[in-house]
Amino acid sequence: MQHKLILFDIDGTLLSVSHQKMRSMIAALLQELDLNEVDHTGISFAGRTDKAIFSDLMGSAAQHTTRFEEVKHRYITELSRAVQPDWVEVHAGVNETIAWCTEQQIPFGLLTGNFEDAAFTKLRHADLHHHFSFGAFGCEHADRNALPAIAHQKAEAAFNRTFSQEDIIIIGDTPNDVACARHYKAQCIAVTTGPFSENELNQHRPDLILHSMEKPEKWLHDFLRTA
Ligand SMILES: [Mg+2]
Repeated sequence: MQHKLILFDIDGTLLSVSHQKMRSMIAALLQELDLNEVDHTGISFAGRTDKAIFSDLMGSAAQHTTRFEEVKHRYITELSRAVQPDWVEVHAGVNETIAWCTEQQIPFGLLTGNFEDAAFTKLRHADLHHHFSFGAFGCEHADRNALPAIAHQKAEAAFNRTFSQEDIIIIGDTPNDVACARHYKAQCIAVTTGPFSENELNQHRPDLILHSMEKPEKWLHDFLRTA
């Protein structure tokens, strides 16, 4: 059990931030920055990296690195200014699961599509930020499938030990979380606290599906024993 590594997704998994309020905030920001080329309505955020989302939202303007960095910076600033406590909901069992992992000395970190600063802004509002010392973020690669290798490398440096790929457990709420785990030959626990139902997630064959992370001393203990 001591060689396992758990990587948590943020949105839909640890917490949810009001989708509608986030969409409005981003739309207003893009409007203010004269980025009106793209119709944003059909662009999905779920399970995607911020790098990929903002590339889609910005259209051809995203090809200019300085412009992309400017928009990223404005988004992060606006996010930390605009988010209110009532925008953020911490999912049931999250605090218990983090406490249980800490108590059992199971190393854990983040694997999220958020830009790093955006990730910590959201976590701060949920008072979860102080639990996380490392992670892979959506500023490091546009493709989520590239993030497990980045998190793996950082975990080995942070904990000064090695982990095998199959001992990594990714916990997330979207088919993209399952896909990135499969891509890296890691294990995957899917949670239904995001926008996807059990049926939808089941089609992607995660190793376990949970409706909530409550009672980690049962589900996580059993999963780690057999994993
Ligand atoms: Mg998610």
